[in-house]
Amino acid sequence: MAERFTGSFTQQEPIPEDAIEAAVAVMRSGRLHRYNTVPGEVAEVALLEQEFAAMMGAKYCLAVASGGYAMSTALRAVGVKPGDRVLTNAFTLAPVPGAIASLGAVPVFVGVTEQLVIDLDDLAAKADQAEVLLLSHMRGHLVNMDALTALCDQHGILVIEDCAHTMGAAWNGKPSGTQGKIGCFSCQTYKHVNAGEGGMLITDDAEVAARAIILSGSYMLYDRHAAAPGPEAFETIRYETPNISGRMDNLRAAILRPQLRRLPEQVARWNERYLMVEAGLHDTTGLTVIKRPEAESIVGSSIQFLLKGWSAPQVEEVIARCALRGVELKWFGRAEPMGFTSRYDAWRYARAEKMPASDAVLAGLIDMRVPLTFSLEDCALIARIIRAEVSAVFQSR
Ligand SMILES: *Cc1c(COP(=O)(O)O)cnc(C)c1O
Repeated sequence: MAERFTGSFTQQEPIPEDAIEAAVAVMRSGRLHRYNTVPGEVAEVALLEQEFAAMMGAKYCLAVASGGYAMSTALRAVGVKPGDRVLTNAFTLAPVPGAIASLGAVPVFVGVTEQLVIDLDDLAAKADQAEVLLLSHMRGHLVNMDALTALCDQHGILVIEDCAHTMGAAWNGKPSGTQGKIGCFSCQTYKHVNAGEGGMLITDDAEVAARAIILSGSYMLYDRHAAAPGPEAFETIRYETPNISGRMDNLRAAILRPQLRRLPEQVARWNERYLMVEAGLHDTTGLTVIKRPEAESIVGSSIQFLLKGWSAPQVEEVIARCALRGVELKWFGRAEPMGFTSRYDAWRYARAEKMPASDAVLAGLIDMRVPLTFSLEDCALIARIIRAEVSAVFQSR
């Protein structure tokens, strides 16, 4: 009998007990809104912002309703206007171009390399088309951030980082999200901390932070923020900035604070699992694992590999055969959007030129979640199944 995996690829770990207790305490108080405090009290959301800023080495932090909201707020805070073009990755998830479109701005897609990062040559070629890059560290792959920063500085491009998959990752020891003007994070269930929904942004720029805080729906209560610039930063901004409510609430913040404290430990556990799957896939004929650069500290919450040059029916066969043995793979080469997975040419509200080199990468790109509910034995088993099925289909080509 062929081995079969019976676990769930979408099952995350339970919320830790101390986080549950903190959530219950917030509910008992009835003060769920971040600005509903008693004298002398600092709200859970303000504490979360302070703790995340400290952890990241950032001056300012704002917690909001979602990662998508963090990105659209970041774009607004740096002055992107309707009709402006914004550079972004062709290989990412739908909320990224969606954040750009939510402002009435226009995404300009930049290609993806076989290392699954933004193509710096393509970025250089398109650099004169926009003043802002919404850089998505899709599936945790960090581009050479030194080269990217140099290129963007040279062309006067402001960088906003989408760190939905890189919370806890670093480039040359510098935390992901601190290289650009603003770093945006998601606290949604499938990311690295789980509040159901939620987002955070960090920046060292007082003006940007002040604008983001007013945008998020602070009314004139910005002095209740603990990781914010002083009142002088709000002097004119408070009159000029619309209130587009998207605050985080104390319940989510209470759930997140204990999880953030555990993040380094969780990152280590993710990476053990990632390395176990990767080791099991190594040297499989027809399958290319993605080599991670030395400078990159990863968070292995998902793994990708390439079936280079395979036809669509052959890729479909691998996916179907793995599915029969309980292994859920996602494919970025599929012509039609499916589940969470879609391609730049599926986002028809934004016209995109065809990118043949990127299409060739996406055509063979397989993606798999690695939740922490998997044991190391699970990871070894999953790798054995993928290896066997890829080999079987490869031999019948
Ligand atoms: C999940 C995700 C987001 C957005 O986060 P939400 O909190 O779901 O809005 C942004 N970028 C990427 C790459 C994501 O996977």
